[in-house]
Amino acid sequence: MVFEQQKQLDLLNTFKVSARAQYFYQFSSVEQLMGELDKIRSFDNRLVLGGGSNILFVGDYLGLVLYPQLFGIDIIEETDKHVCVSVGASENWHEFVVTMTEQGFYGLENLALIPGTVGASPVQNIGAYGVEVKDVLRLVECVDLNSGELLTFSNHECEFDYRDSRFKKAGQGRYIVTRVEFNLTKTPQTNTSYQPLSSIFGDSAHVSPLKVLKKVCEIRQAKLPEPKVLPNAGSFFKNPVVTKQKYEQLKESFPKLIAYPVGGGFKLAAGWLIDNAGLKGMQKGRVGIHKHQALVLVNLGESDGRLIWQLAKEVQSKVASMYGVDLEPEVRIEGKSIEPTVQGV
Ligand SMILES: Cc1cc2nc3c(=O)[nH]c(=O)nc-3n(C[C@H](O)[C@H](O)[C@H](O)COP(=O)(O)OP(=O)(O)OC[C@H]3O[C@@H](n4cnc5c(N)ncnc54)[C@H](O)[C@@H]3O)c2cc1C
Repeated sequence: MVFEQQKQLDLLNTFKVSARAQYFYQFSSVEQLMGELDKIRSFDNRLVLGGGSNILFVGDYLGLVLYPQLFGIDIIEETDKHVCVSVGASENWHEFVVTMTEQGFYGLENLALIPGTVGASPVQNIGAYGVEVKDVLRLVECVDLNSGELLTFSNHECEFDYRDSRFKKAGQGRYIVTRVEFNLTKTPQTNTSYQPLSSIFGDSAHVSPLKVLKKVCEIRQAKLPEPKVLPNAGSFFKNPVVTKQKYEQLKESFPKLIAYPVGGGFKLAAGWLIDNAGLKGMQKGRVGIHKHQALVLVNLGESDGRLIWQLAKEVQSKVASMYGVDLEPEVRIEGKSIEPTVQGV
């Protein structure tokens, strides 16, 4: 049997909660993966694990955890103005961003310091400071466990949306991303339109990408807890999108509400909703809400992921009763969950 059993996942998730995988398969080449396809496909429950920075385990994973170890960064096309880079799914995202920017290949700088792997980046179309991975991604190579084929999806075929893609919808557990290609430019064209950057650089297109990268790292380090010090999975909830009518109604009751127009409606700042509900900085046992960033749930030494999930549900219900708005988790909840018996807030 090539699959490990009862594999401890505690060090493989940034919430640092305790969980085991019933079966666990680590592979270091596409050929190796293809060789085990029949066995892999015999599992109904499958989870591809990258850096574990967007997952909360609320119990043991009953099924097969697939753990790719696929590395390599290769320039596959180059002109005077642009490069196309092919990157193994298990490369560290932030290190890749720094390497490219230092080499003079631009477009990724606003996405610096996002934890996790390159292979996970298209799954939820990672984004920060006005840029999303879809803005620089050329194609995704993956193994389709349904057909057993090695496929490529162009940017358009990835069906990207806000923190969403075809790999997240029905594709969950179906596709294993093995490699991603990015189109990067050699001509600096920085995007400083997002408020925290425009207030420092203005809308100047002339600021160097390396300066933007360093500033993004500085702002993030000041605002967000480092998972190695204070375990967390970044923003726990997505920013909810509501109709114009609902937005206007809320704005009347809460004049300081932070929101941005999107499509026909408005995207509300989930962090503001939670903060304004008085929940920022709250602690409950050994779990809590970060004191500087209300969207981030933190683990203060708890090994049971169910208690983090319970706190998240309490946040959801407080926000729903106060604003009539549903918060959807951005973090993927996995594992067998049995409601813990603890006191309410
Ligand atoms: C402090 C902090 C800050 C963060 N800031 C941001 C931010 O600014 N913007 C943002 O978008 N996200 C942010 N995140 C969330 C997280 O970093 C991203 O979602 C990241 O892409 C997850 O990468 P990962 O390798 O850890 O994926 P995992 O957590 O291991 O997995 C996430 C999802 O991707 C799937 N997956 C992973 N690898 C593969 C693969 N090779 N093939 C198929 N599916 C795969 C998993 O099955 C799962 O559904 C933050 C997280 C933290 C802890």
